[in-house]
This record gives sequence, structure tokens and C-alpha cells, in this order.
Amino acid sequence: MYDLSNNDPLKEKLTILSDAAKYDVACTSSGVSRGGREGFLGNSVAAGVCHAFTSDGRCISLLKILMTNHCIFDCKYCKNRASNDVPRATFTPEEICTLTIEFYKRNYIEGLFLSSGVIKSPDYTMERICETLRLLRTKYRFNGYIHVKAIPGASDELIYSAGLLADRISLNMELPTQESLRKLAPNKNMKNIIGPMNRISGTIAGHRVAVGKSARMERCGINKHLVNSIFGPGVDRIEGPEGDSSLFPAANPFLYPAEKNDALLRRPFAPAGQSTQMIIGATDETDLDLIRTTQALYQSFDLKRVFFSAYIPVNEDAALPDKTAPVPLLREHRLYQADWLIRYYGFVADEILTGDNPFLDYRVDPKCFWAINHLDRFPVEINTAPVDVLLRVPGIGPTSVKRIVSARRYGSINFEMLKRMHVVLKRARFFITCNGRMFERVPMDHRYILNQLADADRRDVYQITDRNNDFRQLNLFDDLKMERA
Ligand code: SF4
Repeated sequence: MYDLSNNDPLKEKLTILSDAAKYDVACTSSGVSRGGREGFLGNSVAAGVCHAFTSDGRCISLLKILMTNHCIFDCKYCKNRASNDVPRATFTPEEICTLTIEFYKRNYIEGLFLSSGVIKSPDYTMERICETLRLLRTKYRFNGYIHVKAIPGASDELIYSAGLLADRISLNMELPTQESLRKLAPNKNMKNIIGPMNRISGTIAGHRVAVGKSARMERCGINKHLVNSIFGPGVDRIEGPEGDSSLFPAANPFLYPAEKNDALLRRPFAPAGQSTQMIIGATDETDLDLIRTTQALYQSFDLKRVFFSAYIPVNEDAALPDKTAPVPLLREHRLYQADWLIRYYGFVADEILTGDNPFLDYRVDPKCFWAINHLDRFPVEINTAPVDVLLRVPGIGPTSVKRIVSARRYGSINFEMLKRMHVVLKRARFFITCNGRMFERVPMDHRYILNQLADADRRDVYQITDRNNDFRQLNLFDDLKMERA
């Protein structure tokens, strides 16, 4: 086995480039299943990449590195920006392959998450990324999961090639509006992000349909009105260079002439879909702005996930929040919950928040927040309420709804039965009746219920603690300490 411990320059690069990558959020399972094959190394399981969270809440399930932290761009929020004096390093494609393969063999990792600063130009950087992936897939026959970040501004052919070699490809949106990008990331523009995103989603759908699967896209074309209203005028003109609005031009047959007939490179395009990341708290967008943008991204580009990354102050700049400002981890957590409501509960952004009330109340989860603001719709009768109404009751999820509906066929349901169905009564009790009776007599008062629910939510183990008024996510070892206490 290759002796990594004797390779000090590589270890030093790894220290710099894995540290530099920690601000890129990719907490996700691999999202694609692929069994092992004779003559190949590795496999990929849809939900199988194990998740581990560092104490600041970042996911460390994949070998997560930057190819380089040199960058010609100067995004104000970024530690690796051109104007910062930080230790710099660059991996060669061969070095990334060595690390991935050696770590994989040692069972340290199950895949690779590769992002990069922009070195020389977006195209030059993207070419090096493609070269790395091509080596991994052909020379090293690596069959495991790869999530790659595309560089905004790189040519379509290169992004297309990366999509053919990786399992997931994503472009970071970074900030939710064109105006914020202009303010904090002057070298980027929304068109360079939205255009490739649209072509990635169109190409994924095309490849899926070509192999007889559903395109998974409810859209029959991009919702230009929505995109225009969210991302700013002009961004809806997202035609590719050939005037094709949603597909990449065919992969350049001259890009890798030696491998163009290589069966190893004949892969579906980004089978695990695409995702993106938005930084929250660096600019003054409201929660409503953020979840509207999130909804637009899901609806228009069929994204697998929109990741939120709480802004961590690393630079001093008049355009940024104060360096001592707390990291908005609780806000990040609540936005993930709102994202969940949009994806699985049929909520739309403008129901959860309104222009007059554009921020969530972080003391309670967004479903409770919505219910408290719509008390006129409650309580609902468990024995007769339709499925869509039950789904909106705090403490009742899709599994509980299924159990309730199935149990109702055989008789009426009471609170004891609800407990056995794992309905979370500490939340649901304010919003339901069983045979016309509430769990306990409580006033249907906004403030009273809010206080009760805020307390219940704080007691949840997996969620958030409030120490010295500084909300933060629990890590694995906090749970252990609580159990011992
Ligand atoms: S492009 Fe911007 S965010 Fe990305 S590494 Fe360079 S400075 Fe940082």
C-alpha cells in the first residue's frame, strides 16, 4: 500500500486544501446506487455514505478538498479570495487520485467531494478538474461517488464533461440575488450560474428519458417568469451558445480523443442530480427572499438539494457583517426545516412567510410557526380531516398521516392511539381534537401556544441548545454528555 505518511508535501497540501474546503456545504448521501464490478474499485450506495458532523455542523462524509485555494476572484466573504494573505496550495490531478484511492482502500472515505478556487481562468480550472475525474474513472477505475463543483464561467463543453464523469455536479449560487452577488462577489454574475444550472437540469432529464426513466421534471420548460422575478431582469435569457435553452451542446468529441470510444467514459450524466449552496447571513435578505429563491430553484431546475451555509465571518469588510457577529446556525437550521416543508409537505414560500412578516420565529420550527399564525384553521378533527389538512398539523408527518388514515377505517382514533402511532403530541396537542375533545384545555391564543411550543422545541435533543444565549447545533458528543449527566 502507498505510504502516505512519508509524503510530507502531499500531507501539507491536504491540510491546507481540506481546511479551505470546509466552508463548502455538501451534507448529503450519495444519492446514487451502483454495485461493485469486477476489475473496478469501489461502489456507491444511494443512502450509504456515512454522515459525520464536526462540532460546527459541517458534514465530513466524503474526502472533501479543494483542488486549489489559489483564486483570481475576490469574493468578499471568502477566506481564499485573491486579496487574502493565506497559505496557498494546489493539487495535481494525480495527487487527488492518489489520495482518493488510498483513503478509499483504507476505508476512510466512500467518495470524493471536489471543489476549487479559480486558477488562471474558469476554463483552465475546469479542465484540471475534468482531467482529475477522467483519471479517476479510467486509469484508477474508481467507481465510487464523486460530487464535483462546476466553476461559474467555464465553458459548456467542460461542464458537460464533468457531468459525465461525476455523480453529482453543482454550481454554488452563493447569494440569493443578483444585487447581493454584485455587492459581495463582483467577479460572478447570476447568468453564469443560472445558465449552466438550467442546461445541467435539461441534460440530466434528457439522459434519464433516453434510458427509459422518468425525467423527474414536472416542469414543461423553465418558468421564466418565476426565474426573472427572483433572479433579476435579464437572467431569464439563458440560452446556450447554440441558442438551445436547456441542453448542453454535444460533448466535444475532440476533448479527450484517446478516450472518446472508451466504454468507461460512457456514463449517465450526473445520475445523482445537481445541488447548490447559498450563504445566509452575509447579506440582508429576509428568510422570505431565501425560501422564495429556494422554491424557484427546485421548481425551475429540479435541484436535488439547496444547501444553506451559515455565514462564518472570516474577513473584515465594510460590506460584511461584523467579524464578531455570531454564526447564524439556528437560522440555517430553521431554513432547512422550511425547505423540507416545501419539498415534502406541499407548502409554498408565500404561505410560510409574507411581505409583512418576512422572518421566521427561530424559537419554533417553521411548521409550528405557520400553524400559530393560522389558528383560525385549527383545531382539526383527527377522525375526519382530509390528508392534506392532517399533513399541516405540527407533530404529524407523512408516516403518521398514513397510519391515521389506515386506522380510521376500523374505528375512531383517540389520543392513546395517536401516541402509539408516534404522533408528536407535545406539538400536535394544540391543534387537534379526537372525537371533538382536545388533549387538554388550552386557550387558542397565539402567544400562549408559542411559549409552550418554544419550550418543547428547546428540549428536543437533536436540535439546538441555548447556552449563554448563543444557539448552536449539538454534536454527537454533547448527546453523550447529556446522557451521562
Ligand atoms: S471564486 Fe470566490 S468563493 Fe470561490 S474560492 Fe474564489 S474567492 Fe472564494
